[in-house]
This record gives sequence, structure tokens and C-alpha cells, in this order.
Amino acid sequence: MPAFICVTCGTQYPPSDAPPDTCPICLDERQFLPPGGQAWTTLEQMRGPYFNAWRRHEPELYGIGTIPGFAIGQRALLLRTPAGNVLWDCITLIDDATVDLVRALGGVAAIAISHPHYYSCMVEWAHAFDAPIHLHAADRQWVMRPDPAINFWDGDTLTLADGVTLIRAGGHFAGGTVLHWAQGGDGRGALLSGDIVQVIPDRKFVTFMRSYPNMIPLSAPSVKRIGALLAPYQYDVIHGAWFDRTIPRGGKDVVERSIARYVAAVRGDGSAELQ
Ligand SMILES: [Zn+2]
Ligand SMILES: [Zn+2]
Repeated sequence: MPAFICVTCGTQYPPSDAPPDTCPICLDERQFLPPGGQAWTTLEQMRGPYFNAWRRHEPELYGIGTIPGFAIGQRALLLRTPAGNVLWDCITLIDDATVDLVRALGGVAAIAISHPHYYSCMVEWAHAFDAPIHLHAADRQWVMRPDPAINFWDGDTLTLADGVTLIRAGGHFAGGTVLHWAQGGDGRGALLSGDIVQVIPDRKFVTFMRSYPNMIPLSAPSVKRIGALLAPYQYDVIHGAWFDRTIPRGGKDVVERSIARYVAAVRGDGSAELQ
């Protein structure tokens, strides 16, 4: 039986004879369905026209993304640590070349995903590498393909390895998570931020939204809470959700300036818009 995949968000559903009626991820206000409506594919169909490309972002950190772009278009990150490799975020396409190359780099000891838009084909990746998937329990309802490999964690942080910490920042999703890598950025620290701390095109700021496609902002308290949770962590580099969304220096300052700018905008009294 095929396991159908939503073409718009890249989420895979459990094997079934016929496609699901709808994709709850895309019906949610944080995603969308295009005017053409719901469409489905499968991994088998994708393995013809699509393949994965790689980029080394820094020593021990590799990006993996699909060519041509598929669904939301994010890339995953393979973070190599002495305690085993962590796959941060996930992509839909997994193929023989990807499995061979990831194995050659040491396989995957754990998968962690920032939020439901990137759950994608996580169960296929978990089975391929016999790895657990760590998801924040607050987003449990958004798992479309349940599996014993999924470990739901609670609280504000989860340590995956020495210097590798998941931080539940919330915001975009209640369980929205970022990964702090203390040894990243040549020891200056790195933040792997998904859509939770969104790197924007100028790389000088980040932003925070409830819905990116529908442009629905977050509240000031929610964004201030993200700032408070990240405050104890040192990081200089931010690796966002796409190959080109990396801030190479000054990341902590960028986040703090961006939070101040954001909060001032959403708490404004309207006078700025008249200038
Ligand atoms: Zn969808
Ligand atoms: Zn998202």
C-alpha cells in the first residue's frame, strides 16, 4: 500500500489504499492549500524527478535538501557529534543515495524536528536509520503518521548529547523547538532555528510569525518569551530552515535586536504608520 504525501506541505500519511480526504496540516491557518486544491504523491513517484543535494555549512554540519524544490522547500541538517549524529528537521525525500551518504557519515542516532511543517517523512527516516524521533509533546496532535519511533518530550529543554540541547521556544507552534549546538560556529555556538526563529533575506534580522504564508503575527508576550528562553545560551551563528538562510556572525545580537523591533511594532500605537 502506498503512503500518500501531501504535495503542498510534504507530510506523509500512513499507508492506505486511497489518499486521505484532506491534509489537516494544510487546512490549519499556519499553512494553506493552493487554488488548485489538494494533491498527493508518494515517495516512489518522487524518486524519479527529485533527488537530494548537499551543502556543508560548517565542519560537522551538513544541509540536505531536495532538487527541484518540493513543498515548503526546507532543508534538513545532519549534525555530527562524538555521541552520534543528530538529524535536525526533516525533508520528504529519502532515497538510496541519501541513505548511503548519511550512513557513510555515521548514520543517525536521533532525529529532532522544530515543528509539524517539517515532520514530512520523519517515520521513513527513522526506520532507515533505526533512530528515535524527538518531538515536543505540545504538538502531538499534528503527527499525521504515528509510529513507535516517536518520543514525545515535555518541559522547556531536552539534552540530546553533550552541548546539543533542544529548547522548546513555542511561538509559531506550541511545541516549536530550536536546537542549540554549543560547539558550533567554531566554538562560538550555533542556533539551528527552523521556522521558530526565522532568518529573513537580509540576514541582519530574524522574525517570528504564527503563520508565514498567511502573514499572521505572534503576540508580543510570545516573542518576548522566546527571547527569555534563549537568553542563557551563547551562539554566534544561526542556521535557519533553508540552505541560504544562515547568519554567520553576531546571531545572538541579531535575535535580541529583532525581538526589540518586533515587540515595538506589534505594541505600537499606530502613530508610526502615519509618518
Ligand atoms: Zn499538507
Ligand atoms: Zn512552519
